[in-house]
Amino acid sequence: MKCPKCGSLNDRVVDTRQSKDGTVIRRRRECLDCGNRFTTYERFEEEKIIVKKKSGETQSFDKTKIIRGILLASKNRPITQKHAEEIANEIERYLIDEGKLLVESTEIGDLVQERLKKLDPIAYIRFKSVYNEFKDIKDFEETLKEIEENSKEKSNGS
Ligand SMILES: [Zn+2]
Repeated sequence: MKCPKCGSLNDRVVDTRQSKDGTVIRRRRECLDCGNRFTTYERFEEEKIIVKKKSGETQSFDKTKIIRGILLASKNRPITQKHAEEIANEIERYLIDEGKLLVESTEIGDLVQERLKKLDPIAYIRFKSVYNEFKDIKDFEETLKEIEENSKEKSNGS
């Protein structure tokens, strides 16, 4: 790392510290030529996820939109801002891990639904209907049936 004071490329690391969440490493360096101390930060390059909408239009992945969508569907339901943020973060992490940097908006919708379904069936149905994800009335009925069966399983404790 080039010394900001004298421009020398000879330096040594005198201290390395990781941020609490492990996403940033801070290194304290000392120039071997002039003794100047400086700090460098190492962090992940921000991965950009591009979302392709049904219209074919693309836009960058925006977690706040997912959060807003979830909260909209979760009005008066036991889903908090924190839940919504967790879902959005989880989806972002999943897409990056899978290397899906170009993703269809419908796939994001599916990912949200999958998670909402586990948290709250009502919010799940609302989300699905808000985003016009039901193909037809049959699809809607099947979803209701599925949820009914899921909740039966839960109350049976199995
Ligand atoms: Zn120097």
